[in-house]
Order: sequence, then C-alpha cells, then structure tokens
Amino acid sequence: MSDYSMVLHGGAGTILKEDMTPELESAYLNALQIALDAGFAVLEQGGTAVNAIKAAIVILEDNVLFNAGRGAVFTKKGVQEMDAAIMDGSDLSAGAVAGVRNVRNPIMLATEVMRNSNHVFLSGKGANDFAIKQGIKLEPDEYFYSAFRYDQWKAIRDSDNYSLDHTNHHLEELLRDKKFGTVGAVACDSNGNIAAATSTGGMTNKKYGRIGDSPVIGCGTYANNKTCAISCTGHGEMFIRTVAAYDVSCLMEYKGLSLQEAMNEVVNHKLINIGGEGGMIGVDAKGNHAMVLNSAGMYRGVRNNKGFSEVSIYK
Ligand code: ASP
Repeated sequence: MSDYSMVLHGGAGTILKEDMTPELESAYLNALQIALDAGFAVLEQGGTAVNAIKAAIVILEDNVLFNAGRGAVFTKKGVQEMDAAIMDGSDLSAGAVAGVRNVRNPIMLATEVMRNSNHVFLSGKGANDFAIKQGIKLEPDEYFYSAFRYDQWKAIRDSDNYSLDHTNHHLEELLRDKKFGTVGAVACDSNGNIAAATSTGGMTNKKYGRIGDSPVIGCGTYANNKTCAISCTGHGEMFIRTVAAYDVSCLMEYKGLSLQEAMNEVVNHKLINIGGEGGMIGVDAKGNHAMVLNSAGMYRGVRNNKGFSEVSIYK
C-alpha cells in the first residue's frame, strides 16, 4: 500500500484578507474542508484517485461560492457555458467537455466522455447531446442563477471587458482586480495511481465560445503515474500558451525535477514571464503534494494518510 493524499483548489487570484469578511472566509474554508474530506474518505476506503477527485469536485460544483457548476459565471450572452476535464494517470485516459450548458456536474460528463465514448474532448451542443444520451443530470437555467454572479456580470456586460473574476462582492473591485474561481482536485490513491480534474465556468462576460485552459488536456489538467497529476487555475490563455500542466510533467520526466521544483519553475518563472497569473496543485505517485501560486491567494486544501490536513486561502 502506498501513501495517499488528496489536494484541491477553488480558484486563485487577487484574494486579499482585507477584502474578505470573517463570514465569507469561514464559508470558503468550510466548503473546502467538506469537499476535501469527501474526497479523502474515498481514498481511506481504498477507492481510486479518479473516484476521490470526482467526489470532491461534485461538492464544489454544487456550491454557489465557486465558479463551476451551480456558481458558474455569466457569459456575454447572459448564460453559463462550462468547461471540465478529468485524466487518469494510470492509463492516460482522459475526458473533457467545453461550453456545455445546464449540466449540473460537468465533471460527471467529462468522466462519462473518458469512460464511455471513443473520444477525449466534446464541445457545445454535441457534448450536451451526449450528456442527454448518457443520462447525465441537467438543471434549468434558474438553478445556475445567483444574485452576486448576475450583478458581477451586469457590471461589465455592456463592455468588451471580460473578467477572470471569482466571486466579487464589491463591484468596483470587479473591474480593478483579477480573481479566478475554477475548482480542481488531484489525488494519489493507496495503489499509487494518480488523477487530476478541473471544472470551471471560465471568465465572466466571455464570448465567441471562448474556452480556457481547464478542459484542455496538458494545459489546465494532466495526469501521468510516471510523473504527476496537476490541476491549474488562473488566466487560462497563459496556461494554454505555456502548456502548463504538461510542462510540469516534462520537467519531472526529462529533467528529473521534483514535483515542487517543476511546479515552481512553471508557475514562478514561465507563467510570470508572459504575465500569467494563477496557481496549480499537484501530487506524484508517491503521495507527495505541492501547491504553488504566483497570485495573492488560492482557495486550497490538502489531506494525507500521515495525518496532515489543512485548508487555506492566502499566499
Ligand atoms: N483558468 C480558468 C479559465 O481561464 C479560470 C480560472 O481558473 O478561474 O477559464
């Protein structure tokens, strides 16, 4: 039996303590803890890394605090278009969806693509048709409506601005700050298999069918037992341009860097060099974990079989 661990994130960005209320801070920490414990429970019972990360992500997708599933941000057209991906490091199988609507848990749909289609990446209406065929749970538009997301969008919908904002509670801040709100999880199970998953609503006011890094295998999400499982959050365009998650894997495989060193190289050098703000979480197949961010904060949590458990927000 190998060491096992579970790590998750709920988005990174300009998350400052002075902008937080104590209530909101504890709401985030509680939500992270609940999702972390749910994923960890799967590992404790001998479950797979894939099932553990799915269990954690579904909880975060159902929580309106996070920009994924229920809390997904509004597009320019005033709807939600969600992206998600999952990858199993034990056999490099992967599933991803982009621009899906009304799907309660996009991560379940991505898993369905991974397990029960001949494909890796489905988008838009076709992905929705596949969801219906596979009996994936759908919800009406109202399910995805929340007042603060709506206000956040209303503040910029008439402009060409798009925002990487997560929850924004002061509207002026929305335009000033960059915050991100994707959710992600990585895990190493007791058999030494690793997996990664990411789910997001993307960016507020996005248009033209914009797709970020989250569902793009190798960019926002990647897992390979030989190296690492990575889930990213931040300014997606930069994570695509740096092929961020796969680059961590390459630095480990070809250069012999440790997980922490490789993540540090990508987040604190390669991304920063092109102005890419955000962070990532990772595990390797020995149960080691790392969480690296170049932004002011990242909602995150980690728990392992050695008794270590922690949720945190600020850098
Ligand atoms: N990376 C996501 C995207 O660009 C946003 C985020 O992490 O919040 O769609």
